Amino acid sequence: MSVKKLLGNLKKIGGKGNEGSTSPDDSFSTSRDLGAKGILIRDRLLGLGQEMFHAQKEFNAFTKVPEADELLNDIDEHPHFFVLACIMDRQIKAERAWLIPYRIHKEIGDYSFQALSGLSLLEIHRLMSEPEALHRFVDIMSRLFYSGISRIRDVYGGDASLIWKGKPSSAEVIYRFLEFDGIGPKIASMAANILAREFKVPFADYYSIDISADVHVKRVFARLGFCNPDPTVEQVVYKARALYPQFPGIFDFSCWEIGRKWCKPKKPLCNECNMRDICPSASNAQSIH
Ligand code: SF4
Repeated sequence: MSVKKLLGNLKKIGGKGNEGSTSPDDSFSTSRDLGAKGILIRDRLLGLGQEMFHAQKEFNAFTKVPEADELLNDIDEHPHFFVLACIMDRQIKAERAWLIPYRIHKEIGDYSFQALSGLSLLEIHRLMSEPEALHRFVDIMSRLFYSGISRIRDVYGGDASLIWKGKPSSAEVIYRFLEFDGIGPKIASMAANILAREFKVPFADYYSIDISADVHVKRVFARLGFCNPDPTVEQVVYKARALYPQFPGIFDFSCWEIGRKWCKPKKPLCNECNMRDICPSASNAQSIH
């Protein structure tokens, strides 16, 4: 499960909203292909996305373990927690994956990067596997964890926040994440989206932040008429790019939330959905079983 699913459990603690601009621009060619209703749907989703983008910074309950979440949210003083958690986020539930850096730190009794940086691969493997396995694939994930620490130390001088500091372009940030062993385009884009949307990290642009096309997002994109039924991940990713090239990932959370709350695989709750007045599938909802 992607970590964005955890972001439905946010708890406000205040802070500044994102000052970047993602205003819709109807001048791009997609508007001509969408039709009036498609534009309405796109703009409704954009509005929801922009509301979240410009909202006050919130505390993210990544793991629901308060101490771990405090450290994961502290991207200024403990940025390596966030980066290492992204590396661990594969093949297991996000809550469990995002807990791994905290559990390793807790075991060595020190939350500083320096303490982590002194561990050998053998020690990390032991901490990852005893007294219980922290990941389904301990061998490979120990190597990736160790490699991630080495990269943060050798390339970023121990300060992982240099990956996103200084208002770089979204492509540059995603490229830097892709340079870590074990991080592919999906996780790199998710990491950039969380940094931009949740942590309000300013980027020079948002062009390269893609939508994370999970089952909810795919279903909502299809029912809203943007894609054919049962689209592929690539179709959803490219459709989101076509709909809003400036920031394709801005549709991410609103679609996921609609999918989770109302647009169920069977018996969607159209009467409660905030897209019901413009959704082309709303009238057919009773026939979706
Ligand atoms: S109106 Fe119904 S079919 Fe359309 S997005 Fe909402 S829940 Fe899904």
